Amino acid sequence: MYADRTNHLKEEGAYAVLAKAQALEASGREIIHFEIGQPDFETFSNISLAGMRAIANGRTRYTPPAGTPAFRQAIAMDASARRGIEIAPNQVVVSPGGKPNIFFPTLALVNPGDEVIYPNPGFPTYEAMIGVAGGVPVPVPLVEENDFSFDLDVFDKLINEKTKLIIINSPSNPTGGIIPKADLEHIAAAAKKYDAWVLSDEIYARIVYDGMEDAPSIYALSGMDERTIIMDGFSKTYAMTGWRLGYGIMPKELAERVGLLLTHSVGSTAEFAQYAGLEAITGDQEQVTKVVAEYERRRNVIVDGLNSLNGISCQKPQGAFYVFPNIKATGKTSDEFANWVLEEAGVALLPGTSFGKYGEGYLRLSYANSIENIEKAIEKLRVLLG
Ligand code: PLP
Repeated sequence: MYADRTNHLKEEGAYAVLAKAQALEASGREIIHFEIGQPDFETFSNISLAGMRAIANGRTRYTPPAGTPAFRQAIAMDASARRGIEIAPNQVVVSPGGKPNIFFPTLALVNPGDEVIYPNPGFPTYEAMIGVAGGVPVPVPLVEENDFSFDLDVFDKLINEKTKLIIINSPSNPTGGIIPKADLEHIAAAAKKYDAWVLSDEIYARIVYDGMEDAPSIYALSGMDERTIIMDGFSKTYAMTGWRLGYGIMPKELAERVGLLLTHSVGSTAEFAQYAGLEAITGDQEQVTKVVAEYERRRNVIVDGLNSLNGISCQKPQGAFYVFPNIKATGKTSDEFANWVLEEAGVALLPGTSFGKYGEGYLRLSYANSIENIEKAIEKLRVLLG
């Protein structure tokens, strides 16, 4: 009855756990939430005000499908300065959220039967959209000891002439890991050798710690500008998830095709949201610095807390707002552990397998939550784990 291309689609794990947690809350239980990957801060006030002003001024119409000229220009300047690269405004495609800049470039590049390499555990949208495009999903496991970067031995075995696209994500959801520069160089060399494209999901590029500037981009490596799509957006850096505002950066010809896909699907991105985004990148960045410093404090508390628990070991990730602790020593599967702590301790978190089969033996916690709640949750877990 339905077209085959949607048969493989599944609900995101976070929504299933949230629904279960909310059912428990409705029955009077107190639940501490670590399942949703969404900043717990409000959109910064200068940005919200710019959006409201735009609505009051009638900025409520269609815009050119790939975004207003002023916004594309501002994004090009911001992205160029941050990554030490040179981007022209006609390489920028604005979209309602970053996700369409995963879906549409994949649709524009991948023919049925083409192979697409992507991280596992990884953001579930990659596998979902590869399938819709008719591509063959080729998951590459991540290695805990190497900051959850690709297992490059496996990567080297899997890449071949049929590989059309390689998806990378740094800093990563779900692990928080940042791909080391040497690994980016390895991936770039293989992409050039096999004439593959790279889709680099950099939505957490500015949420990095330990004095690091933005996470390095593969786009900046020699010869990669002609085969790389950067996906970025406003959801995480500026706490703007509900505004639906993101963008892609890619070679001009691909940008034109992705622009056409936008034309015939969503039409354009909300005009007032683009005005808010313009304020976000051209306005004061102090608030971003403050929020990142707060995430870093929380990361330190949650990593130390998890490492103090029996059977759990946790790497200290350098980016995003996720930790991906290893629970293999507890003898429980990820699913068993996640259900157990939700029911027994009221702590909602995700099994690593929500992000693919190589996530078995791990959990994902989003620490977009207060230090007080993090500490409370750690003590509840301590009681369970003994
Ligand atoms: N990429 C990654 C790795 C993410 O974690 C998310 C959101 O959770 C997105 C992309 C999409 O973000 P948005 O569509 O809100 O811009």
